This record gives sequence, structure tokens and C-alpha cells, in this order.
Amino acid sequence: MTPAEFSRCLLEWYRRTHRRLPWRETRDPYAILVSETMLQQTQVKTVLPYFQRWLARYPTVKSLAAAPDADVLKAWEGLGYYRRARLLHAAAKCIVTEFNGEFPKSTEDISSLPGVGPYTLGAVASIAFNLAMPVVDGNVMRVLTRWFGIRENATRAETRKQLWDLAQSLIPEGCAGDFNQALMELGATVCVPHRPFCLLCPVRTGCWAFAHNAQEELPRVAPRPATVKEFEYAGLVLRSGYVLLCQRKGGQRMERLWQFPSVTLKKPVEQWDKRWKETFGAFKTSERLATLNYSVTNHRIRLEFFAMRDFTRRKARGTEWMSFASVRDLAFTAAHRKLADRFVEKPPAAAEDQAKDG
Ligand code: SF4
Repeated sequence: MTPAEFSRCLLEWYRRTHRRLPWRETRDPYAILVSETMLQQTQVKTVLPYFQRWLARYPTVKSLAAAPDADVLKAWEGLGYYRRARLLHAAAKCIVTEFNGEFPKSTEDISSLPGVGPYTLGAVASIAFNLAMPVVDGNVMRVLTRWFGIRENATRAETRKQLWDLAQSLIPEGCAGDFNQALMELGATVCVPHRPFCLLCPVRTGCWAFAHNAQEELPRVAPRPATVKEFEYAGLVLRSGYVLLCQRKGGQRMERLWQFPSVTLKKPVEQWDKRWKETFGAFKTSERLATLNYSVTNHRIRLEFFAMRDFTRRKARGTEWMSFASVRDLAFTAAHRKLADRFVEKPPAAAEDQAKDG
């Protein structure tokens, strides 16, 4: 099978069998930008309800551009990697101010939008405008390294360039959008990381990895960063229908999201409460309400949640009393949202209302 036959077979297979997904029913560049931004680092089944809610709430670039920052973060709540929401919002504002609200059509103009790197540019330009621009994401990298037998470290700059050039050269004339989606679809559904379904693969003939039984060895990538363990101690402090919350600072991961006041330590220590009191204020007793384990990138975090009693608040920067009713409308980190849903509106007896400002 030649590279040209590879492209033709893959395209035919895609047109026959592809999954029906809402962002494949449109050529609206704004909707495609939204879907491609959401799909970075996130699975299709997670994105589906967010995509539909997002377009119902912000159906046009102009409606997104006009939305307050806090509303945009709230709409993204739970999807993770919040920088994507900020960049999408910034791109919408840029389209309104620089392009008079019309989504730009040239590759140069699309690439000038905030958050649009080579991958997003390729996806939007090819799917919305059928421009012959390649895309290389993790799925495409896997398909190409296996099929062409590329055994160099796929994360090195030279190999990445080779993959982008290859992806560009394979685009059949006039079919960029469908072909790019076909490559990604094959990687997502057939040429999966472990135990790929080679017997169902439309381009099995000619695949180097299949012929050499080397599917699991490719792509070669740099080792993942080591896991970092962290221990987080958070407190539920209530006062007359209000709860003490913090907004994460700029420059932190998950910046500007809300959470309960918490300290994070490298080791589980008996004296976590000393650190907590120094940061937020003194309390006399605490009772454990819940323990959660969650991950953010390579951080594995064990979160202990306590009800604090007889609390005297320090004027800690970033902490605020927020009404119970407002908690529903704030964008929380995923772990703290679970705690808020469970403990704020129906507080446990242990979180009796005994707080005062110091
Ligand atoms: S034959 Fe197997 S390894 Fe090769 S492209 Fe198809 S699914 Fe991937």
C-alpha cells in the first residue's frame, strides 16, 4: 500500500463508519474551535454535554465575547485545564475587536487568535474551511509512527517536524477536513494505545508495526514526569448563612477558581492545623467530614476536609464570606465542588455557626 492508497482507504473508511458527533454536523468555525479546545486532553464522552450546554449558552462568538469572566469559568467548571476557557474567551473577544465579529478565514488570521497553536489552527482551518492544513495530536502521532515505522523519540523536535510534514503530505486534494478527522478517528477508535484492533484496521496492509508485531513499542516518547504526592487540608467554616471561601491566585494552577480555605503539604503531618491557623485563623476544635483522593496532571492529592469550630478569622488575602445561595453560581475546582454540594447547603452539626472575624 502506498501513502496515497493509505489516504484513500482511510478516507473511505471514515466516510463509511465515523461516529456521529455534534461538532461533525457543522462547519461553523466557532463551534469547531469550541469543540477542538474542549477535546484537548479530554475524552469525547466528557466533552459531549459540555459542548451542547456551551453552544446553548454562548451560541455565537459575540455572545461569548460579551460574557463576564466568572460566567465563562462557571460554564467550564468540571472540565479541567481552565486555561483553555480563558483562551477561548480571549479568542472570542479578539474576533469581535480585530475582525468585527466575523470569524477569520485565512490561516494567518486564525493563527493570530489567542490559544490557537498549530493543532487548533489545523483543525479549524481544515474542518471549517477545508484548507489543506495538517493536524498532529496524540492519536495522529500514534497512527503515523506505527504505520510508517518511525522509531525515533516522537517528542523530539526533529521527529515532530517529520510527523507534521508527513501529515501534510498525506492530505488528499480537496478533502483536508475529512482526512484529518479520519486520522484522528483511527487513532481514537482502532489504533488505540494498547492492544490496537489491527484486524479491523482499514490500512493494515502496509502498516510497519503490524508487519513487525511492534504496535506496543510505538510511538516512542519521553518518560512521563514522576508522580508528586500532596496532602491537602481544607476547612468548612460557617457564619449566619455564609461560608468562608478562597479564590485561587493568578499564576497558580486552576487560577481564580473557588475552594474552601486549605493548605497543601508535601507530607502528611500531625501539625497541619498549625499551618492552617497561621494562614486563615484560629479554631478550637475540628472534626473530619470527608477524605477525597484526586489528581491534577502528575499530582496525586489526598484531601482531608474538616469542620472548624470556634473560629476566629485572620484577614487572610483571597478569603471571603460567601452566601450559601451564591455558592451554586461560583466556579469551583472539581474536588471542592463535590464538598460544596455535599456540605454547604445542609451543613453537618459539627460545622456549627461559631465563626467571627478577628
Ligand atoms: S494495523 Fe494496527 S498498528 Fe497499524 S495503523 Fe492499523 S491499528 Fe494501527
